[in-house]
Amino acid sequence: MELKVARRTAKIYELSNLDPLTGLFNRTAFLHHLEEQLAKGEKENEPVALLFIDLDGFKKINDTLGHETGDKVLKQTAIRLKAFGDEEHLLCRWGGDEFLIAVMGANQDVAITYAQEVISKISDYYDFESNRLSIGATVGIALYPEHAIKGDELIQLADTAMYCQKKLSPRSVVLFNKEMGHRVFREQKLKVGLAEAINKQQLRMVYQPIVNSQSYQVVAFEALLRWDFDGENVPPDEFITIAVQYGLINAIGNWVLQQSCIAAAQWLKDCKCSQPSVSVNVSVLQLHNPNFITFIVSALETAQLNADKLTIEITESIFSNDKETIFERIKELQSMGIKVSIDDFGTEYSSLSVIQDLAANTIKIARSFINKLETSGMAIFEAVKQMASSLDYAVIAEGIETQQQAEVLSNLGIEMLQGYYFSKPLELSKVQNYINH
Ligand code: C2E
Ligand code: MG
Ligand code: MG
Repeated sequence: MELKVARRTAKIYELSNLDPLTGLFNRTAFLHHLEEQLAKGEKENEPVALLFIDLDGFKKINDTLGHETGDKVLKQTAIRLKAFGDEEHLLCRWGGDEFLIAVMGANQDVAITYAQEVISKISDYYDFESNRLSIGATVGIALYPEHAIKGDELIQLADTAMYCQKKLSPRSVVLFNKEMGHRVFREQKLKVGLAEAINKQQLRMVYQPIVNSQSYQVVAFEALLRWDFDGENVPPDEFITIAVQYGLINAIGNWVLQQSCIAAAQWLKDCKCSQPSVSVNVSVLQLHNPNFITFIVSALETAQLNADKLTIEITESIFSNDKETIFERIKELQSMGIKVSIDDFGTEYSSLSVIQDLAANTIKIARSFINKLETSGMAIFEAVKQMASSLDYAVIAEGIETQQQAEVLSNLGIEMLQGYYFSKPLELSKVQNYINH
């Protein structure tokens, strides 16, 4: 009878305190024990380090090999963490592929060394029947009492540190600092703001001329997005990244396309000419969206703009994954008469093979090469120009700020130029003036 009661008590404890898959503490139990340890730390004047561990590459295993294999990896990770830690350390599966360890008495240096060893243990091969897998981990550390004195805050700060590090350099360890807190806070603020930006009419387009390098006549305008938020003009590089990360880019990108087509139709009507066309930046996620083509068709129709007046600018980074879908989309666009330009050429992945496979219409050489025009930059422009000629692409140089740069590139035979030397991006109301000037 006593044995039965003891077993049942143990079972109840297990159900309410342990994660069923790994047998580690669950959230509630961990938080409870952590507070106890922090109280002890306070009494004995001892530090406590909180490690937030997130596996790298786990999602891929789950997606490609199935959840069963994913579960095995999590179990195996828990076993390794248990074997590695000592009695005093609290261990927890926080959720998904996230684990926590509270290391008693650990100062900064001890915690970092400990975390590095954790990564190395997790990174050893995982051998299952027919599969040998490898996985990594990123660890963020927050310290008691230096960073926070409450358990839930420590976890949150360690999570923040891990999150920042994962973006910068996965498979490594980082200690929380205040700057990370600000960064994540800003990201959250921008994310929330961005979701409402269209409705609140905070977005607008500006247009930067692209000119013929011989005549300096404007041949196109690049449409660039602007966001006025909370009295700040948030840089596009910053908010586009957030829009992509949080799945807002499709809605925003559609808005951009629609506005740009309407604007171009208007300036063409006003100047009664067949140029300038409009060039619109498109993110890889938009191209992956199965409704992208349908949307473009409807945007052109709504604006009454001919497809050959629209160019789509895509960055090379899109070629880093799932080339087939992208290539298909691009062919489809071109068959409609839309032109395709490769933006920021030379900064990302395997450029040469990409432009060989992809029959783009123009290549825009990245602005960074302009600054090196006196040194290595010139050779890059020459090489790209030669290659582009043999493949029948036109070349655009962007970021031209001086007359000298314009002349050098024009003499080299670069067909089109863009940059502050000709004009900064213009409000729509100034576009007509520029065309007529
Ligand atoms: P990008 O497509 O390479 O656009 C050119 C950027 O260079 C623009 O920055 C433009 O203002 C800037 N620029 C042009 N001439 C000069 C110059 O002479 N000197 C210097 N220093 N800069 C020059 P912006 O508007 O800040 O846009 C930054 C990036 O944000 C763009 O780079 C593009 O990748 C992205 N972006 C902007 N609008 C959109 C959009 O509507 N959709 C998407 N997906 N991305 C966008
Ligand atoms: Mg661009
Ligand atoms: Mg560019």
